[in-house]
Parts: sequence; C-alpha cells; structure tokens
Amino acid sequence: MELNDSLNIGMDDFPINEDMELPEHLPMMAVRDVVVFNYMIIPLFVGRESSINAVSEAMEKDKLLMLVTQKDATHDNPGVEDLYDVGMVCTIMRTLRLPDGRLKVLVQAMARAKITSYVKTEPFYLVAAEPLRDVELADVTVEVEAMMRSVREQTEKIMSLRGILSSDFMMIISNIEEPGRLADLVGSNLRLRVAESQEILEETDPVRRLELVSKLLAKELEVSTVQAKIQNEAREEMGKSQREYYLREQLHALQKELGDVDDRELEIEELEKKIKKTKMPKEVKKEAKKQLQRLDMMHPDSSEATVIRSYIDWILDVPWMKSTTDILDLAHAKEVLDEDHYGLEKIKERILEYLAVRKLNKSTKGPILCFVGPPGVGKTSLGKSIARAMGRKFYRLSLGGMRDEAEIRGHRRTYIGAMPGRIVQGLKTAGSNNPIIMMDEIDKVGSDYRGDPSSALLEVLDPEQNSEFTDHYMNLPLDLSKVMFITTANMSDTIPGPLLDRMEVIRLAGYTLEEKIIIAKRYLLPRQIEQNGLKPRHIKITDETISYIISHYTREAGLRNLEREIGSVCRKIAKKVAEGGKGPYSVSKNTIDKYLGPPKNIPESEQDLLDEPGLVTGLAWTQVGGEILQIEVNIMPGKGKLILTGQLGSVMKESAQAALTYCRSRTKALGLKEDSDYFDKHDFHLHVPAGAIPKDGPSAGITMATALYSAITGKRVRSGLAMTGEVTLRGRVLPIGGLKEKALAAIRAGLYTVIIPEQNKKDIVEIPEDIRQQITFHPVKAMDEVVKIAIAGRKR
Ligand code: ADP
Repeated sequence: MELNDSLNIGMDDFPINEDMELPEHLPMMAVRDVVVFNYMIIPLFVGRESSINAVSEAMEKDKLLMLVTQKDATHDNPGVEDLYDVGMVCTIMRTLRLPDGRLKVLVQAMARAKITSYVKTEPFYLVAAEPLRDVELADVTVEVEAMMRSVREQTEKIMSLRGILSSDFMMIISNIEEPGRLADLVGSNLRLRVAESQEILEETDPVRRLELVSKLLAKELEVSTVQAKIQNEAREEMGKSQREYYLREQLHALQKELGDVDDRELEIEELEKKIKKTKMPKEVKKEAKKQLQRLDMMHPDSSEATVIRSYIDWILDVPWMKSTTDILDLAHAKEVLDEDHYGLEKIKERILEYLAVRKLNKSTKGPILCFVGPPGVGKTSLGKSIARAMGRKFYRLSLGGMRDEAEIRGHRRTYIGAMPGRIVQGLKTAGSNNPIIMMDEIDKVGSDYRGDPSSALLEVLDPEQNSEFTDHYMNLPLDLSKVMFITTANMSDTIPGPLLDRMEVIRLAGYTLEEKIIIAKRYLLPRQIEQNGLKPRHIKITDETISYIISHYTREAGLRNLEREIGSVCRKIAKKVAEGGKGPYSVSKNTIDKYLGPPKNIPESEQDLLDEPGLVTGLAWTQVGGEILQIEVNIMPGKGKLILTGQLGSVMKESAQAALTYCRSRTKALGLKEDSDYFDKHDFHLHVPAGAIPKDGPSAGITMATALYSAITGKRVRSGLAMTGEVTLRGRVLPIGGLKEKALAAIRAGLYTVIIPEQNKKDIVEIPEDIRQQITFHPVKAMDEVVKIAIAGRKR
C-alpha cells in the first residue's frame, strides 16, 4: 500500500461514530508510511497479497477494515511484532481495480481501536479489537484554551514557513473547539515522523494529546525556522555580489537621471582600459584598480573624485617599466661629445671612461658626476650630450634656492592641488625610467622649517636606497636605480658634505678669449643663425668683431652672455631680412653698437688701472670664474684703526688684519723708526671696489698686505702686475685655489706678471698652453719676496 495525498477535512457531516460497536473479528491491513487519525478520509493503493485479501474480506462483510501502521516501512511482510497494536477502524468507501493489478481504496476513519488478539494471520490478518476512547474532559480551561490558540498560531507559522499555508485549513482549525480533535487534525497534517504520530494517536487524554502536539510543533517550528534561515543565507550569499553590482547600477541610474553619467562611464571605461594596458608593477596596478573603484562610487564633481582622478592619471603617467635601450658605443659617444663641445679634452675623457665602465659592467653603480664651474661653461650642455650619446632621455631640474623637502618628495595627497615631487615629474616628462636627470645648483639647496631637501636628495642619489624611493604623493615605491643622475654646482664648497661624498667632482674652469672665439664661430653663431631663421650668407662677422663683443659686451668665464649678444645681433639682422633686405650684413667693430648699443663693459686692460701708491691688483676666484680685484688703501691721521669697506666676508676681514700686522712687524723695511708711533697715530682704510658684490676668501691676503705696504711707503706697485696668495701674521704666503681661472682673468685684464704662492707652482701645467706662454709667474714663499717683486726700486 502506498500513500497518496491524504485528506482530513474533519467535518461533522461524516458518519463518525466513536462509540460504535465493533464486530468480534475484523480484517486488518498494515500501512507503511502513515498513521491514520480520526476523521481522515484517505486513498490507499493496495498491492500486497494479504492486504488485497483483507480488503476483499471487508467488502464481503460490513466494509469495516482495521488499519495499523508498520513500525518499519521497509518491511514487505511484517510480522505481528512489526506492527503497532493501536490503529484505526475504517469504512471502505470505494474501491477501484487499477490496470497493474493493484487496488485503489478510499477509506474513512471511524474509530480508534486497540488490537486485543490476532485470530489468524493467513491469508490476511484477522484480529479482535476494542475501541480506544478518549478520557472524559471536564471542561475547557483557560490554559487549554490558550494552548489551543498557541497550537493554531504555531501551525500557521510552520505552514507559512514551509510555504504550504492554506486559508481553508486555517479556517477549519480555528473553528474546532475540542482539544483532542484539534490535536488529531493538526497532528495528521504536520507530516510528522511515524513514531511521533503514533504517540499522538495512542494518547487518550485529549489535553495531553494537545500538549504533545504543541511540543512537537515547537520543535518543528524551530527546525523550520533554521531551515528557512539557512535557505535565506544561501540566497543572500549568492546575492551579495549581485547586490553590489545592483547598487552601483542604481547609482548610475540616478546619475543618469541627473544627466552626468555618459561622460563619466566613458571616462571610467577609458581609465580601466588604460590601467589594463599600461605596464606597471603588480602592487601599483592593484592600487590603480582600487582607486578606480573608489572613483566609480563617487560623485564625479566631488573634490575627492578630482583628487583621485589626478592620482590615477599620475599612476598611468609614471614610466614604471618603460626603459630606453642604452647605446654604449664609445666611438659614437666621443663623436657626439666632440660635435657638441669644443675643447674640454680632460672632461670628455673622463666621461668616456665613465661610459666604458658602464659598458663593461651594466649593473655598476658608479659615482654620481658633479660638474662644478661658473655659469655658461657647458655643464648643462655636457649633460645633454651624454644623454644623446647614450640614447637616453634628458631632464633637468634646478635645485637653486629649494628649501622645501616636498619639492623633491611631493606633497601628501590630502588636498586638491597636491603634486608629486620633481623626481616623479621628471620621470613623467622624460617618459622612461632610465633618463639622465640633471640636478642643477646642488650647491644652493637650502633648508628651513619646511624640511631639508638635501636629506631627500641623499635618498634619491644613494644607490643603496633609491631603488625604493617613495614619493609622498604617489605613496608607492619607485625604482630610481636605473636613472643616471648628474649634478652641477658653481662651487663645491657649499655642497652639503654627505652629498659631496657621493659625487665625483669634475671642474670646468671657463674659457680663454681664443677658445671663446672658436666656440662662438663654430657653435654659437651657427646655432643662433639657424634659430633666428637666417642663412649663413646673411651675416658676415670677423674674429676681431667677436673678440670685441667678448671683451666689451660680456664679462664672464662662460658663454651665456656671449651667446645672448650673438643672438641679439642675429635677431636684428633677421628683422632686416624679413623686411626684404638681402644682405649680407657685415658686423664690425665700428657698427656693433648699432646692434648691441654702447659697450657694457670696459675691459680691465683698457681701464686705467691707476698707478698710485696704495693701489694693488689682486686675482680672485668667484662663482662666475676668475676676476681681478683692485684693492685701495688710504691712510689718514687717526688712532690706529683699520677700516674695511666693500662687503668683505669674515675671512677677508681676518686677512686684512693679518696684512696690517705683517706691516707693523716690518717697521724697518717700511722706513720707519723702531719706536715709531706711526701705527697708533693713523687710521688705515682698505676698500675693495664693486661694493655691491660680496667677497670672501683668503686669497687676497698678499694683495692687501702689498697695498698697505705701498700706501705706507708711498711707493707705487709696478704696472701690469697681479697677485694672489694667502698671508699669515708672520708674512708667509700660503697656496690658493682656482689658479687657472685667475690666470684667465689676468690675461683678460692685460696683466702679464703674476705673483703666485710657491705651492701653486704645480698648478701652472693646468693652465692652457697659450695663456701660460703669455704670463710670467713669480712663485713666492714669503711676503718679503712679494714686496721685492712688486715695489722694490720704485719711487715714491
Ligand atoms: P652651464 O650649464 O654650465 O651654465 P650651459 O651648458 O648652459 O652652461 O652652456 C651655455 C652655452 O654655451 C650653451 O649654449 C652651450 O652649448 C655652450 N657651450 C658651453 N661650452 C661649450 C663648448 N665647450 N663648446 C661649445 N659650446 C659650448
């Protein structure tokens, strides 16, 4: 027998008779999966031989059949011990023979009964049974009423959780007022386990039966709730990712409504594509994607979106993995260097050596080159040439006056307008991760409350640290180890020590007149002609004129002003050509003032270097190269004071003191009496002209001493003489620096006799041959020798 859909309508119009008399013997049939309760009408499919026999027997008699449930549904031939002994006596309402030989039997439960004995077991069970009636219920108490209500509610909940809630059924149970009946009805509809149902069936106390049902309901409710929860969670889990997507779509929909979505979607898509396409380290890509997601969630006009957008742009712009291939062909490099620069043999040689080492050992982290020299001597253009020779990109950044660390390292991304530092900017501009970055004026980095750029620079320049350089703005490690850094400075003294330690200094002193003329003809003029859209045939200019421009319109060790002046000449000619002139225009010494105005500078050689006592020409070395320095001393009655004017630095002031002390110790040579009170009765005024320019350094020492000496003795210094050297209290002469620059300055001023410290004799070889030839050098060890050369034999 199988159970099809059971039906328990519980209506009173069915002939239910709990008190019915049972016949002495009843045919009995075992059912498998179901416990039949009171009031149930249920169709059964009967297949088992003994069951069909039992049905036939009943049909032949009074249609009454006892149904009991098997303890174990899988048993095909249950014995007596496999059956419960409490069951339901039913009336067979209808039978139908099915084509497969089975019977479909519709039965209605009539009365609960307990088997008292088995009469026979073959060919069907015949049993004797007695009705099992409910105990009498006195009254429905409030508690019972409450329990009934709760059972109804629980049932409703369970059915709704299971999704089988039927309003008909709920109406039926709400009308039932007997607890036993309610228990039967609910119990039969709950799909309980057989053992549980059987327990309910056997309970004869209606209230207890209801209690049992209520307990089972509570348990069932719990199970159903948990089950529903599990299902919900599973549904939610699946839905979470969809939910986010859904929300974002909703957001887009809203934005579309507001009219600002299309561009934005395009933008996001575009960025996404770019991020995908651009090569960058994993970590960087991850960050870029993360930021894009954030951007996607934001209102496009919000300030935060602006910040993120430009950050993503920066991430995309930095050439994380983009390199150029180095050309390490020395012959080619030499060609390029020669093509761009005249002279500078030693420096070119050093650069070639540097490249040679790179060629042999690609991973070498050689020293950082530092070009030191006055402006316009070709430091920058050498850097550019190196880049061209190696096939690298070139980027130049000026450190002059930089005080804020953020210029190197960038600003944190917390406000609009924050930017990465100059290093990252440089890489972006260069477009490769291995450019040559030239840092100009490394001697002029300052530091103040905004931080110390030089410490950031140290990190950038240190090959041990710079593979993980972190810009504050980017906040992602950036590998700078492939970048080739070159620095420049006007003087090495003011470069912070730790930086200087990491660099190899290469000095560029400046050019002689002859060198400048050649450079002007070969490099500057052709370049200016081209830049101004002229043809070489438009302009005629002689060496003599160039020389005149150099001496009368420029005053520098380098070539900047010269290039500018030549540029002016070309511009003026370009104007004439543009106006239809054919040229050629010749520029000569006589016509030059039409182009450049009156001379800006009277060369020292033409200046009347006054030939008076107390006037001496010294040689100085400044940031712009060598200079001559005329020192004047005047003596007047006074109290022995030394007055110094002309913006002298402290070292120079001390030199002046030393010079005066030297003179005081030479009373006899000065022609004064041993016990003279000359020095107590006079004031000594020492002035260094060009007072606007601050001067410092010890190398004017012997010049000041000589000037004092000359003023005191009233003897003039021989003409055409220049000198340089530090003086001690006792008149020893100590070495100085920058001899080459000073010699160049002397020649420019037409001074061909130069007194130098003995210890600088070794530096004479550094001076270009042609200059060396023109100058007579007098190396000296002591002040007395200086005086001898400069003054001896001269008249008052
Ligand atoms: P710096 O960087 O030292 O201030 P630059 O590199 O700007 O100097 O040089 C100034 C100008 O002089 C540039 O046009 C440069 O090409 C030119 N120049 C400098 N030295 C030479 C040289 N040896 N040969 C040819 N041109 C030179």
